[in-house]
Amino acid sequence: MVADIVRKHFTIIGAGAVGISTALWLQRDGHAVTLVDRNPPGTGASFGNGGLIQTGAVVPIATPGVLRQVPSMLMDPNGPLVIRWRYLPSLLPYLLRFVASARPSRVEEISIALQAVLEHAGEAYRNLLADANGLNLLTTTGELYVYETAASYTPAKTWHDLRRKRGVEVVDLPPEELRQLEPALAPIFHRGVYLPNSLKTATPFAVMTALAQNFVANGGEFVQTNVQDIVIENDAPVALTTDSGRRKLDQLVVAAGAHSKRWTQQLGSYVPLDTERGYHLMLTDPGIELRVPLISGDYRFAVTPMTDGIRLAGTAELAKVDAPPNYDRAERLLKIAQRVLPGLDGRSRTRWMGQRPSTPDSLPVICRAPRYPSAYLAYGHGHLGLTLGAVTGRLIADMAAGRAPLVDMRPYDVQRFA
Ligand SMILES: Cc1cc2nc3c(=O)[nH]c(=O)nc-3n(C[C@H](O)[C@H](O)[C@H](O)COP(=O)(O)OP(=O)(O)OC[C@H]3O[C@@H](n4cnc5c(N)ncnc54)[C@H](O)[C@@H]3O)c2cc1C
Repeated sequence: MVADIVRKHFTIIGAGAVGISTALWLQRDGHAVTLVDRNPPGTGASFGNGGLIQTGAVVPIATPGVLRQVPSMLMDPNGPLVIRWRYLPSLLPYLLRFVASARPSRVEEISIALQAVLEHAGEAYRNLLADANGLNLLTTTGELYVYETAASYTPAKTWHDLRRKRGVEVVDLPPEELRQLEPALAPIFHRGVYLPNSLKTATPFAVMTALAQNFVANGGEFVQTNVQDIVIENDAPVALTTDSGRRKLDQLVVAAGAHSKRWTQQLGSYVPLDTERGYHLMLTDPGIELRVPLISGDYRFAVTPMTDGIRLAGTAELAKVDAPPNYDRAERLLKIAQRVLPGLDGRSRTRWMGQRPSTPDSLPVICRAPRYPSAYLAYGHGHLGLTLGAVTGRLIADMAAGRAPLVDMRPYDVQRFA
């Protein structure tokens, strides 16, 4: 099949989970690939996330239940959602579309489209990691949602039922069985829900590094520079201007995560992409062992065991992409995590802020740029960019090769926002 493909040169803006994976899949088809990033590979949002490959994440963020919970989330200082109000005017188009996406019929459609790509997410990573001698960086641990009260469990039950409807294996756990699965948990929980087929990485950065090194070892070019502009001439993107000069373009992939909106506009399309900033605390000497990744259903953050400690990752902070971090959001995670895991030692810790590239309908943008067939868009994976990075790369390579894609691509087309 590779023999029939017309070999081209691809330039990818962004070396995160999406850009690196896309580079590897294109390389497999015999294309020459240049990855451009202003920072080293894997140091954007793909660096500090929760490390979960959430293959059962078929529930969009916008649902009728979440809309009902927004006021109480915003009033709780430890709640999972914060809006920096001064940015409200610029966030409005996103928020209005978010509300529109929460219609039950739309939630159903989005959930089907999420499931279609999630089904291939684990296999796409295994494929890339096997080639990079990194299969050991991925394990099937499952993920355990824990709920302290009936009030937090009851709305979540609707979402777990939607998972079941999409074919995800979901196991309900009464309190007495919870601590058999995870002995480190405090005896405060009303209910647990276990998704046994979810995967996790040893640390996301180790995965990014293994894949990026393999890309270079296979002849790929990585250029560390800031992209300033896309030059359009004769109705095609012909060059990038960068801090280190002009780079000629043949084919272009925009995979710049939360920074992709501007490039999409330059390519003649509109996308209501915004950033849900999130934070982590990395506890490097946590004092306890954790068997399974946990997700607090009450405070909506993840607690993930990693090679270098335990990571607390969460919070959705709606603010502009270049707003300064508020590390108080990260620090708050420690107190809550110590409620969940009483022995947790947080004295030795580092903190981080990252920008989820979020669309209001929780679906990524994976398509050709409508006005320019030599350009592709691959971003907007929100809470699932690590999970969907590898499969997104595969879908872009399929499109570029003219192969029948694994899934119906229409739900991910940027034109849905036109
Ligand atoms: C706290 C937190 C927890 C999370 N947990 C999970 C999880 O457990 N599982 C999951 O699946 N997802 C998770 N996510 C989401 C996930 O991290 C992101 O969706 C994903 O990393 C996005 O990948 P990306 O490649 O699109 O973007 P990025 O990794 O951000 O890569 C984009 C790259 O583009 C580069 N770039 C941008 N503009 C330019 C320019 N002008 N010139 C040159 N380079 C440029 C940036 O430097 C960056 O390296 C989490 C996110 C956060 C914040």
